[in-house]
Amino acid sequence: MFDAENPIISFENVTKRFGKMVAVDNVSFSISEGEFFCLLGPSGCGKTTLLRMLAGFDTPTEGRILIDGKDISAIPPNKRPVNMVFQSYAVFPHMTVADNVAYGLKIDRVSASERAHRVEEALALVQLDGLGARKPDQLSGGQRQRVALARALVKRPRVLLLDEPLSALDAKLRDQMRTELSSLQEKVGITFIMVTHDQDEALALATRCAVMNRGLLQQVAPPNDLYEFPNSRFVADFIGSVNLFEGELAVDEADHAVIKSPELDADIFLDHGVTGAKGATVWAALRPEKIELHKRPAGAAAPSIDDSPTGSNAVPGVIRQEVYLGSESVYEVEISGGRRIKVARSNLTRWDQEDFAVGEDVWLFWHACSPAVLLS
Ligand code: ATP
Repeated sequence: MFDAENPIISFENVTKRFGKMVAVDNVSFSISEGEFFCLLGPSGCGKTTLLRMLAGFDTPTEGRILIDGKDISAIPPNKRPVNMVFQSYAVFPHMTVADNVAYGLKIDRVSASERAHRVEEALALVQLDGLGARKPDQLSGGQRQRVALARALVKRPRVLLLDEPLSALDAKLRDQMRTELSSLQEKVGITFIMVTHDQDEALALATRCAVMNRGLLQQVAPPNDLYEFPNSRFVADFIGSVNLFEGELAVDEADHAVIKSPELDADIFLDHGVTGAKGATVWAALRPEKIELHKRPAGAAAPSIDDSPTGSNAVPGVIRQEVYLGSESVYEVEISGGRRIKVARSNLTRWDQEDFAVGEDVWLFWHACSPAVLLS
């Protein structure tokens, strides 16, 4: 879907300073037509500032923002082919739903008959048909947010900007609206750019995400690449849950590598080479669901896992905590030296959570392809 040759939007070395504070720091990336792009990162990382500059509510201190290859700095917000949906629904309380949706068209002097037709179309898109005569206080939170969406969509923008559009909704409604947003985007084919600090939301909706930290762009990638191939400790830790082990790259061959970590009583053996200097400090990132839990009978020798040499990718430990989450259970396993490792195990049957108990001796296993190696 991403076509680097034909971006609809490009940020080129964009920096935004508020006084001495650098909110966005030399950021460059592009977005293609039809993408559902998420800007993701912790509070204060600069994601809303990026969106506001695209909408024209703020101007870059340095750098350029291009739409269809043209610098948009001289174009006022209301003339840009983008529309923004805000976090708080920002609907006019004294107007009916239909008048709220028609408002922007009225300002643009669109004829009454055309307005009526487009309002009806927009309300149908967000499944509010028949509710045009209601006032916002006669609607649920989810419905009010749909009015805000319809009001933006009715103007037929090329790009819809969404600033944490689901954050005011409760968990169940947010889930439902997530699915609706995704099918809405497929239906209208408009490029969506959404700001969120909710990683699950970004992973579920985005075709690609940009992860930001303190004004800097950390990684731009599709959700599965962010999760399986993070490029830094920050991204590995921000997206999902992870166990990070600092170590030394002791062996680095074309088809395998070994990391020695003082935190583990075993080597980390990898079935691929690493593009790092031998002897360098690296970090191995192991997701909790990629670690297997096995019983450790007293006196039994250390087992070896199928694709790894003996003495690697298996460590003994003791279960210290179990958190039952319904679909899975998350165990905290203490290994020698006191480090606790998170292990997630799917509850495939109704009795699975009873397989392991706090205080039990276990082996932790992982495959040679499972750790992600991070150089920073
Ligand atoms: P959140 O998820 O909390 O909304 P964010 O990633 O969207 O965070 P921004 O709103 O882009 O973050 O803010 C980035 C930084 O710039 C923050 O430290 C913020 O305090 C600062 N900032 C934003 N707008 C202004 C402003 N108008 N004046 C001064 N500082 C600002």
